[in-house]
Amino acid sequence: MDKTKKRELLESLRQKMRKDDNLPLQKDASNLVFGEGNPDAKILFIGEGPGFWEDKKGIPFVGNAGSLLNQLLQSIKLERDDVFITNIIHYRPPNNRDPQPQEIDSFKPYLDEIIKIINPKIVVTLGRFSMAKFIPDVKISNIHGKKHNVNWSGGELTVIPMFHPAAGLRRTEIKEKLFEDFQNVKDMLRDLEKQNQDIKADQMQLV
Ligand code: URA
Repeated sequence: MDKTKKRELLESLRQKMRKDDNLPLQKDASNLVFGEGNPDAKILFIGEGPGFWEDKKGIPFVGNAGSLLNQLLQSIKLERDDVFITNIIHYRPPNNRDPQPQEIDSFKPYLDEIIKIINPKIVVTLGRFSMAKFIPDVKISNIHGKKHNVNWSGGELTVIPMFHPAAGLRRTEIKEKLFEDFQNVKDMLRDLEKQNQDIKADQMQLV
């Protein structure tokens, strides 16, 4: 599917979500935080849920945790426009409390559709709630930064669980781990690029 088509599908999904009055947390929120970035991104980041600034602006990761995420992206020479960023829930919970299981379930069909449209090569989960969507019953401290191939909608998806940037703001050692884990993403992207070039070279030889 080309980028224009993906953009169109994401926009109509955003409109559908906006009109969905059954979604929890909608009444007290200022804005839906659908997600933003490149519809054709190779990497999709999934965080937890909007905070104060995200709710005000309708854009994910624009507060303090977002500043750290921007630095992490820059550390591997990526811009926000190179990736797509969204969350496990799309309206702000009161006082930034943890998302509840039934809230996560309510947003699930929409998030699954976002994943399907973008069709990323790599999903980076930020924090334990988005990690649990793909890799349940594990501790983030044991598996962060490592590649996990998970079954996803009839195929395979590469998921890299990472600590939440907000945890990195609270603890320096977590911040350091986040920067290390981002270097792994850089290596994986380079490998993907190489694989693509090899496939193209093979195809050229066939013609
Ligand atoms: N934390 C998140 O998990 N998501 C955001 O969009 C902002 C902060």
